[in-house]
Amino acid sequence: MASDRKPKKLRCIQRSADRHWVGDGFPVSTLFAYSNLGSVLDPFLLLDHAGPHQFPPTDARLGVGEHPHRGFETVTIVYSGEVEHRDSSGGGGKIGPGDVQWMTAAGGVVHEEFHGRDFARSGGQFEMLQLWVNLPAKDKMAPPRYQGILDAAIPAVNITGATVRVIAGIFAGKTGPARTFSPIIVWDLRLFAGPLEFPLPDGHTTALVVLHGAVRAEGCETIREGEVALFDRAGSCLRIEEAEDATALLLCGEPLAEPIVGHGPFVMNTEDEIRQAVHDYQSGRMGHLNSQPEGDRDV
Ligand code: MN
Repeated sequence: MASDRKPKKLRCIQRSADRHWVGDGFPVSTLFAYSNLGSVLDPFLLLDHAGPHQFPPTDARLGVGEHPHRGFETVTIVYSGEVEHRDSSGGGGKIGPGDVQWMTAAGGVVHEEFHGRDFARSGGQFEMLQLWVNLPAKDKMAPPRYQGILDAAIPAVNITGATVRVIAGIFAGKTGPARTFSPIIVWDLRLFAGPLEFPLPDGHTTALVVLHGAVRAEGCETIREGEVALFDRAGSCLRIEEAEDATALLLCGEPLAEPIVGHGPFVMNTEDEIRQAVHDYQSGRMGHLNSQPEGDRDV
């Protein structure tokens, strides 16, 4: 199904060697980070892969307690297990396999992220991705918002050799439900066999994250589990020659081309804005999680 579109060329393959725990619920490999690749990844900032990891049954709350974010969005995609989130803007919800939460911290939220209570009690396999998407400078101080996007709301398009779940962007006439601040594609892919061709915007940052299985893009070596292939921005499609029962995430976004200055959970454009973020958090201006819904807390 080769077309006359010009394929994006492989730039490099990233593999993470590190594994660290975020709180006590998320054994994470950071697959990419803006600290060393900011301008290459723009508008994406960071991608954490949690699990796959087998958790025994527990009544404990596993995860990360109250912490802030400002200046970007966190997008959490669950593959197995359950994640519960609650934030100081009133957003929150529980997501399971196939679901996505798109949390816009923007001007600032305080939130917590835990395993779902039912999942924790039964135990089992846990796997998720968390992507940080940068916001344009003009939107960094916008009001926070929360989009809980359930599996059933995500269009799944079957083509020969693949299923494309359209979380954000448009594929084959189907529009993903996520509302974004800049043009972003997030497609959850199941790839069975090549050749495959995915039309993509010319000039946009493009990354293919392989979680399971193996994928070979045109003219490059095989991309394996836990690896991220970064492609040149030039070109109008991603062409895949072979795929073996792969689960992958395709990311494509228009570069913001603005300065990136980050410190922990804050990503802004200047050092002054970071100092302001720290000050605003410490003085309580990003809110608190002090009003607990009935029955939502362990005693
Ligand atoms: Mn967080």
